[in-house]
Amino acid sequence: MIDLHSHTNESDGSFSPAELVAEAREAGIEVLGITDHDTFAGYDCALPLALETGLELVCGIEVSTKLHDQSVHLLGYFLKPDGLAGFRDWVLDIRHRGASGTSVWRRGSGNLGLTLPWRKRRLAGAA
Ligand SMILES: [Zn+2]
Repeated sequence: MIDLHSHTNESDGSFSPAELVAEAREAGIEVLGITDHDTFAGYDCALPLALETGLELVCGIEVSTKLHDQSVHLLGYFLKPDGLAGFRDWVLDIRHRGASGTSVWRRGSGNLGLTLPWRKRRLAGAA
């Protein structure tokens, strides 16, 4: 079983990274994506624990942003430290400055050479 969208208490999840790893294993999950909001802290804490238990962990993030005054959450995956140079530092910088991502994300993604096809999207409930 695979779950590619989970949160720890490093963002708005209920479980600590250690508890999430334990719960995932208990539930029979073999691959778990941790996509905390605007942080990699949960993934980083969970990784050594996941390795010990044989759980394959996918490094993800849920970036909070806005489009036309609507809240939009962008999911990103496979963002290991060596996977996208500078991205983690940029996310850390956003959090330290207390920004929620909105305009910073737009500027920063351009600086990283990412082209984002912005589309208006109505969110169906909390994500
Ligand atoms: Zn989410």
